[in-house]
Amino acid sequence: MVAAGCSGRPLQLTLALLKPDAVAHPLVLEAVHETILSNRFLIVRAKKLRCGREESCRFYREHAGRFFYQRLVEFMASGPMWAYILAHENAVPLWRSLMGPTKVFRARNNVPDSIRGSYGLTDTRNTTHGSDSPASASREIAFFFPEFNEQLWYQHEEPHLRC
Ligand code: ADP
Repeated sequence: MVAAGCSGRPLQLTLALLKPDAVAHPLVLEAVHETILSNRFLIVRAKKLRCGREESCRFYREHAGRFFYQRLVEFMASGPMWAYILAHENAVPLWRSLMGPTKVFRARNNVPDSIRGSYGLTDTRNTTHGSDSPASASREIAFFFPEFNEQLWYQHEEPHLRC
């Protein structure tokens, strides 16, 4: 675990993914990692993984039937990713705002310094994922880190991390 700092307030968890387009480019990977640390997230867990097509379909099942769904699941299964459990007092909204808008055109035009504004390639190959609510974060953390016990983490680790 890398401790980037502590605020004294309760910590929230979020699930961040660096998608295959980011992992394919070491400088993008390094820049996003630097964004994580400079915004004082705690990296609670991190792993490099590769999703199968079936796993990608399950992760994005809420989008099943949309015109970009097949493209999306093929892309997510096309190469390795990094998955992170990040902690911060505002982990969910902070990571979402650092990511920038889903669509790369909007990201580049409206939030050019965001991760997607800087590195996103297309609306699908948009570098990163972040949970959109604390409930999604819990579900997505369990999806990628089934060995992680969120309840135990809040009981035994979180109180020591917010100093
Ligand atoms: P976000 O990742 O910003 O939470 P969504 O949950 O709406 O956005 O979409 C999930 C992923 O599906 C996006 O990150 C992107 O990779 C892909 N996607 C969403 N909308 C489109 C689109 N209109 N065209 C192509 N791909 C899309």
